[in-house]
Amino acid sequence: MTSDFEAQLRAVSLRVTRPRLAVLTALRDHPHVDTDTVIALVRVQHPTVSHQAVYDVLRALTDAGLIRRIQPAGTTARYESRVGDNHHHVVCRSCGAIADIECAVGHAPCLTASDDHGFAVDEAEVVFWGTCPDCSAGRTTR
Ligand SMILES: [Zn+2]
Ligand SMILES: [Zn+2]
Ligand SMILES: [Zn+2]
Repeated sequence: MTSDFEAQLRAVSLRVTRPRLAVLTALRDHPHVDTDTVIALVRVQHPTVSHQAVYDVLRALTDAGLIRRIQPAGTTARYESRVGDNHHHVVCRSCGAIADIECAVGHAPCLTASDDHGFAVDEAEVVFWGTCPDCSAGRTTR
């Protein structure tokens, strides 16, 4: 709900603005979308919002921890509003589709390094790669 987003913004001392609410709404409804898609979604409701405004909102919300920026190797950056847990992603090698995968452990780092070389390890970046159901189906029927 919009009022939840307002509370989230206030909790991190960000002013409540229409573009910020629009971006949060877009990401709630469409997780793992890239910047161009966010712009298109925001413009459905707010046609006058500029590209730059959306870029600025994405950066501010990411810095504030309200959204998460993910960028699997070789893909464009995507954004999601599911933050605060340590979930992972599975990425389709063929079409780039992304889905959430619950972390088996639930907190970072969820993998224990065989040798941490004395580093205080606090995160393991886990990305699962494969072929999504749509691409698998397309491949077998062709
Ligand atoms: Zn695919
Ligand atoms: Zn996710
Ligand atoms: Zn994990």
